[in-house]
Amino acid sequence: MARRLRLHRQGELHHHVRHPQAYPELGNCLYFDLAYKTHAVLYELPNNRLNWIWYINGAEPVLPGSSVTMKVSDAMVEEMREEAKRVWGPELARLMRETVEPFVNVIYDAGEPTPRLSWAGGRVALVGDAAHATTPHGLRSTNMSVVDARVLGRCLARYCREPCARSRARALAEYEAARLPVVAAQVLHARRLGRLKQGLVVGSHGEVFDARTATEEEVSQLR
Ligand SMILES: Cc1cc2nc3c(=O)[nH]c(=O)nc-3n(C[C@H](O)[C@H](O)[C@H](O)COP(=O)(O)OP(=O)(O)OC[C@H]3O[C@@H](n4cnc5c(N)ncnc54)[C@H](O)[C@@H]3O)c2cc1C
Repeated sequence: MARRLRLHRQGELHHHVRHPQAYPELGNCLYFDLAYKTHAVLYELPNNRLNWIWYINGAEPVLPGSSVTMKVSDAMVEEMREEAKRVWGPELARLMRETVEPFVNVIYDAGEPTPRLSWAGGRVALVGDAAHATTPHGLRSTNMSVVDARVLGRCLARYCREPCARSRARALAEYEAARLPVVAAQVLHARRLGRLKQGLVVGSHGEVFDARTATEEEVSQLR
C-alpha cells in the first residue's frame, strides 16, 4: 500500500501560572492556524499545560522500533524553531521556542475505509481505531470510538438477553449497519482534510488548497 507520511511535531509546554497571565495573547481555547502547505493546532490541557502540534508533510524517517513517536536531535529542534519564526506568528513561534523537549509523531495516510465492522460470522466486532484508523485531521477519532462502543453495547443489549449465536450475529449486523456508513465517510473526510491542509493535490484536476489565496468557498471545505 502506498503510504504518504505526515510528520507531526508535537510538544507540551508546562507552566505554572494560569494562561491569561502567562500567555495573554493565547487565551484559553483551541487555536488552529494555516500556513502554506502546513498547519498547526494549539490547545489547553488540564493542569496548566498547553499542547501544540505542527503538521508537516515530509520524507519517511527510519523508525528504530515499532513506536511512531521519535525523539528529535538538537539540530532538528533548532531548525524547527528557526522555521517557526518564518512560518507562524510571534506568539506561537515563542511557544515552540520555549518548549523544552518537542517530539515527532509519524502519521501515515489511512487506507481505504474498512468494508466491515463485524467479522467471523458475527463472532467478532471491531470498534474505534481497530476498525477504522483515521488520520487526525478531522479531530473526531476519539468521538467515533466512543460512539462505536455505545452503539455496539446497545445492539448487544437489545438482541442478546440470552447467549445465542444467532442473536449475537443480528446484534453485530445492526451495529455494522448503523456505524459503517458514518465511520467510512469520516475516514475519507479526514483524509481529504489532511490533503487540503497540507497543500496536496485533491480531486482529479490537480486542485491544491493554498491558504494564502483561498476563497471563502474553498476555506469552507475545511469544516
Ligand atoms: C498523536 C495523536 C493525536 C491524536 N489527536 C486526536 C485528537 O485531537 N482528537 C481525536 O479525537 N483523536 C485524536 N487521536 C486519535 C485518538 O487517540 C484515537 O482515535 C482513539 O484513542 C482511539 O481509541 P480506541 O479506544 O479505538 O483505541 P486506543 O485508544 O488505541 O485504545 C486501545 C487500547 O488497547 C490496548 N491494547 C492493545 N493491544 C492490546 C492487547 N493485546 N491486550 C490488551 N490491551 C491491548 C492499548 O494499549 C490501548 O490502551 C490522536 C491520535 C494520535 C496518535
